[in-house]
Amino acid sequence: MTQEYSVHIEIAPQVHLIRGANRARFPEANCLLIDDEILTLVDAGASLPHIERTLKDLGHEISDVDQIVLTHFHVDHKGYAERIRKVAHCDIVCHELGVEGTKSFEGLVDCYGTRGRAHYYAWESFIKKWLPHVTENYEVTGTFQDGEDIDCGNVKLIPIHTPGHTQDHTCIGINGRKVIYLVDIDLTRFGPWYGNAVSDIVQFKESIKRIMDMRPAMGISSHLMEPISNGLEDRLEAYLAVFDERDQRIVHNVEEGHDTIEKLAAVPTIYPRIPHEVYLVFEEIMLEKHVRLLCERGVLRRDGEKILVDKR
Ligand SMILES: [Zn+2]
Repeated sequence: MTQEYSVHIEIAPQVHLIRGANRARFPEANCLLIDDEILTLVDAGASLPHIERTLKDLGHEISDVDQIVLTHFHVDHKGYAERIRKVAHCDIVCHELGVEGTKSFEGLVDCYGTRGRAHYYAWESFIKKWLPHVTENYEVTGTFQDGEDIDCGNVKLIPIHTPGHTQDHTCIGINGRKVIYLVDIDLTRFGPWYGNAVSDIVQFKESIKRIMDMRPAMGISSHLMEPISNGLEDRLEAYLAVFDERDQRIVHNVEEGHDTIEKLAAVPTIYPRIPHEVYLVFEEIMLEKHVRLLCERGVLRRDGEKILVDKR
């Protein structure tokens, strides 16, 4: 298949965006390649041909990779890291809260919190069929610390721990905090995703605000083709507002009589539609997080399975 876009673009000196296949839509994602003294890949979830092609165009090959920095444990980010490590004998580093989810498929499923739920096996067989490489064990060789430079030579990467999407989610500042790899604060039209046991809406909002406070000049999403400079602040603001919009839709749906998580999931709030049952797990987990917070705020209340608008 011919690509209608360039596989990689240079976004800063020695910093290359490797675009995922299929316009970097899940289960593809972008990665960064830092073509420096210490040849560094940030995430490894773009298709392997895209990673190889980028390396080749820059005069390298897989075996030259020195280190892989993982922004979080998700399958579209840890991706081919272990396959590459086996060839390159490189380091794989991540946030300490991401070690378990990265190291093994069991650890990943624990972080997802999906085991034992309805539709779990549909999800597991989806992963095993389409992403068999992520079910392998990964060797994590080290961890990075929030705010402590990762040295690539000329380029310094700064981990900015931004939990919420997952507990270990980490944006990466490139030579400071003005150019930021936003990872899965991804600014897509879909909006924020927090469908794991280890995801947290309150933390996610705080993390977006933390990034906004840094007033970045450029943000690079894991799932958009182009880095964003113009209107970045507005884009972050609009992305943050999605949480409240979803709250309002959920309250409205409860008022309309969709008064259990299952019934709410049948008129999905987060996904525009449920194309496959595997998505239902995540819709339900995200709905539960909203409902719990809305109950805490006294907007909704629960009576067993039933969700009611709190009129007290
Ligand atoms: Zn993710």
